[in-house]
Amino acid sequence: MNVADQIFEMFSRHGNEAYFGEPVSQTEHALQTALQAEQENAPQTLVVAALLHDVGHLLHGMGEDVANRGVDARHEAAGEAWLARHFPPAVTEPVRLHVAAKRYLCHTDPDYFGQLSPASVQSLELQGGAFTEHEARVFEAHRYFGEALRLRRWDDAAKIPGLEVPDLEHYRPALSAVARTL
Ligand code: FE
Repeated sequence: MNVADQIFEMFSRHGNEAYFGEPVSQTEHALQTALQAEQENAPQTLVVAALLHDVGHLLHGMGEDVANRGVDARHEAAGEAWLARHFPPAVTEPVRLHVAAKRYLCHTDPDYFGQLSPASVQSLELQGGAFTEHEARVFEAHRYFGEALRLRRWDDAAKIPGLEVPDLEHYRPALSAVARTL
């Protein structure tokens, strides 16, 4: 099975589950994140990263209420590990860093924390809270720092109930173009 089909199968199996305390499903959330990337003319690798940034949630099978149970599922690491089998760092690194980007923005942007949804505030605690000044400086030096922040902003805004978006098939050409040929 090619990688696009594998991904679409995961979405069809788990994508209808709610996106952790938000008013959209996992699939809606992924599609809304990817559409913003497209609308901002992000490179294809970053559009794919946006679509797949929460693939770790579809993999881990811990149920939608993990944060409520006080567990940090480390979905960004699980997602990155799975994606690394198929995609280059320009896809996997923004995915791996999208939680760190939230912690970074909580430190550097005074308005950011107040804009987070209640579910996102709850998971922030489990993810280690806002970065310290030192952690923020280290993060800024990362090669994919800019991409991680862009992805994070789209992620945070991708929670609009009922928004009309292109379906998963719309992203098949991008997935095929960006996937490694192993
Ligand atoms: Fe997300």
